[in-house]
Amino acid sequence: MPQREDAVALDAADPLASFRDEFALSPSPATYADGNSLGPPPLGVRARLAATVEEWTNDLTGAWKRWVDLPLEVGDRLGATCLGAAAGQVVVCDSTSVNLFKAVNAAIDGCDATRHEIVVAADEFPTDRYMLQSIAAQREMTYVMADSAAAAADACGPSTAVIVLSAVNYRSGELCDVPAVTARVHAAGAEVVWDLSHAVGVIPIELDAWDVRLAVGCTYKYLNGGPGAPAFLYVARDHQTRLQQPLWGWFGQRDQFEMGAQYEPAAGIRSWMAGTPNIIGTVLVDEGIGIVARAGIAAIRAKSEQLVALAIDLADELLAPRGWTVVTPRNPASRGGHLAIARADARNVCATLIDKALVIPDFRTPDVLRLGFSPLMTRFVDVYDAVAAVATI
Ligand SMILES: *Cc1c(COP(=O)(O)O)cnc(C)c1O
Repeated sequence: MPQREDAVALDAADPLASFRDEFALSPSPATYADGNSLGPPPLGVRARLAATVEEWTNDLTGAWKRWVDLPLEVGDRLGATCLGAAAGQVVVCDSTSVNLFKAVNAAIDGCDATRHEIVVAADEFPTDRYMLQSIAAQREMTYVMADSAAAAADACGPSTAVIVLSAVNYRSGELCDVPAVTARVHAAGAEVVWDLSHAVGVIPIELDAWDVRLAVGCTYKYLNGGPGAPAFLYVARDHQTRLQQPLWGWFGQRDQFEMGAQYEPAAGIRSWMAGTPNIIGTVLVDEGIGIVARAGIAAIRAKSEQLVALAIDLADELLAPRGWTVVTPRNPASRGGHLAIARADARNVCATLIDKALVIPDFRTPDVLRLGFSPLMTRFVDVYDAVAAVATI
């Protein structure tokens, strides 16, 4: 079994080790294992915030001539760094929930009207399921809930308009074969909207090469953009005109400041915005992307695979004899950046770990404890300490 000194040796050899120094870390003695839920602040955000407040102070509305393009500029940077997306296809704005609403409605409007089903997996993230329920109710469509992501993809047929899938499942950490599933759904004549919230910043993503048309995701998890940071929306260039999003706001309007009587969508990805973007939030997202860009997704993924592998080895040795099962797939190619383990009393264990300031994990009903490892700041020794602490409860 790996010992604590083995973890220390892995840290000494870790090419990403120095990135930990670029984050403001909590003084709590607890090991933070929830960066997949909310990443800590990059140190650089203080200067970026101060500069933005300065710009706001001095230039007031005059700053909008620069700010108006910021959601597209940061979108391009995110696309190049993390999404395999050429410029002009990603916008940073709104929340993942709202972007999902836009993308799913656009996908439905782009489909043949005889297609009346919206498909989702039962273990999909709650906001995704609720958004689809509301869209199905508003449009009098059929909401189809499959047992798993694989079953959902299999359920796509001649009646399906759209399916929503996560690249990495927020509970189990299972990683989908995005290009293969995308090809299957498109072959069935349906659209797929990918939710990349638990994948972006930790998994190599190639949206252009994978022929993805629509994707959304969060920036406050592995990208460390801050609580409630604006989300992103990707629309493949070839589909930006064919598909139209339903929230007609003045930031998506052609000639915005002409204030015309009639809505006319702007060209390209700009039309996928609705209202005034959150500039301070977008600046902080840019700071998070900058760190990922310097580290490189390939190096981040390599370390992430090693972190989870160490956690699984330790879980097999320390936790399996105590009644825990590993939920996360064992094949590194089939999983994301967090470990999910299950035991009937996981809720209480999670509360005790937090109360005793040992580990900050999170609990997902009914019986899953998640340990999230963020390669830019999680050390191998943190993985060791987190799993060892669970074993003591
Ligand atoms: C975190 C997460 C969300 C959150 O959506 P918000 O609109 O930011 O609250 C949505 N989907 C998935 C898969 C997530 O992991």
